[in-house]
Amino acid sequence: MKTRLLTLFTIATAIVSLAQAKDNRPNILFVFSDDHAPHAIGAYNGWLKSINPTPNIDQLASEGMLFEKSFCSNSICGPSRAVILSGKHSHKNGFMNNGNSFDWNQQTFSKILQKTGYQTAIYGKSHLKGRPQGFDDWAVLPGQGLYYNPDMIFPDGRRKLQGHCTDLVTDLAVNWLKEKRDSDKPFMLMVQHKAPHRNWMPALRHLHLYDDVDIPEPATLFDSWEDNAPPARYQELEIDRHMDLNYDLFVDLVPGFNQAPSQKRQDRSAWANMKRMTPSQLGVWRAAYGPKDEAFHKANLSGKELVRWKFQRYAKNYLRCIKGVDESMGTLRGALKELGLDDNTVVIYSSDQGFYIGDHGWYDKRWMYEESLMMPFIAKWPGVTKPGSRDKHLIQNLDYAETFLEMAGASIPNDMQGLSLVPLLKGESPSDWRESIYYHYYEYPSVHMVPRHYGIRTERHKLMHFYQFGDEWELYDLKTDPDELTNLYGKAQHNNLANQLKAQLIALQEYYEEDSDISEKPDTWKAQMRARN
Ligand code: CA
Repeated sequence: MKTRLLTLFTIATAIVSLAQAKDNRPNILFVFSDDHAPHAIGAYNGWLKSINPTPNIDQLASEGMLFEKSFCSNSICGPSRAVILSGKHSHKNGFMNNGNSFDWNQQTFSKILQKTGYQTAIYGKSHLKGRPQGFDDWAVLPGQGLYYNPDMIFPDGRRKLQGHCTDLVTDLAVNWLKEKRDSDKPFMLMVQHKAPHRNWMPALRHLHLYDDVDIPEPATLFDSWEDNAPPARYQELEIDRHMDLNYDLFVDLVPGFNQAPSQKRQDRSAWANMKRMTPSQLGVWRAAYGPKDEAFHKANLSGKELVRWKFQRYAKNYLRCIKGVDESMGTLRGALKELGLDDNTVVIYSSDQGFYIGDHGWYDKRWMYEESLMMPFIAKWPGVTKPGSRDKHLIQNLDYAETFLEMAGASIPNDMQGLSLVPLLKGESPSDWRESIYYHYYEYPSVHMVPRHYGIRTERHKLMHFYQFGDEWELYDLKTDPDELTNLYGKAQHNNLANQLKAQLIALQEYYEEDSDISEKPDTWKAQMRARN
């Protein structure tokens, strides 16, 4: 009897102390941008490092862990976000391309975090359509959103805000930290920037950034895709042939800097973005770009010189948009410090996929080639990640949900398909970590005309299958050919390697229960080629 009373007393004491104990599970600040390629981050040591594009994100890397081999599973905006929320590949979460609508009724990590006592909020680009579920507070851009004076959708309705989108999203997040946060609960705060997504419109304070700098050109700016399978030659994302001077680069259609800005000076789609500006904002914009446009029209460039000019204009505007995102990281971290939250908040920076910054002559993403397959992933977990460390395991956006859940001490549902990164963040090297990743892109026919393809990437090799157009394969040795210029597929001495990778690829498809339509549609492809030649 005495023992039983003692046990009851012990249990009661434990319950009381549990109720009184402060919940010290870590907060998570997840800063997520759109189309920010790792090679446009200084800490990733790409060819743009020399212009120091991201000092605040680099600072995060120096205090935390940078993942060198971080990849998406489907290189496009909405699907990447759906994979992150669900912890499942596109064919499982149902959001396979940007035309789909996300089923918000499905299981997501944010709903589970809420159930385990986290306060959750998301601000910025959702791109998943519908009212977000699993968040205590939210404000999202409709669709792609606009850079200047955008509309945002709040739980109580839609309204137009005044300012640049990156700053507005940052302000919403800081305001939430200061005014809406429940200090008794740990939080998950998702800050999802539109920048640096096309059409690149930097904040006014960044319009002259890099004016006196020549952005280094990528080694493959004039790639002619000679060794690729046909799809690489029949895309529509070349700086040369497809990047529009007005729509993409906001070059005035007619010279005459002193004329008033108006739709007549722009085509309709570019003007749809510019007309959101106030007269005052438009005046600053015109003062920055007008003289440059005048000089461009006078120079009458053609051929490679025109490509080079377009690359400079594009890369500068892209990097100016990134400067805003980098400053946002600085502002958010400053707010954490000011509020005394810095010591118990995991800060993560990532972006929904990589991007071509003139690499292979392209802009945009979608392909399984390295520049768009890679995603940045940098995390600082105070007391856990070793400052300045770099991890080389193969990771994917498929792993984020599982990671957030383990950080929060929540159990990971069996039907999530990724791996928690927590062991890696602790500096461990699990012996059974994955040896390859699976990729599948679905959006064709669509803008930029990148055909459907799937593939496998291992530590060293990549095998891709373009299945709509007959039976086109590409195989690369990333150690000897990091730019993927020499397709080894079909060369006798590499047949064994190709067969091994095919077997691994099939095993991955079985493991992930791939059930999407991968049938060939050669008639579609032939019709497309006829129409465009
Ligand atoms: Ca994107």
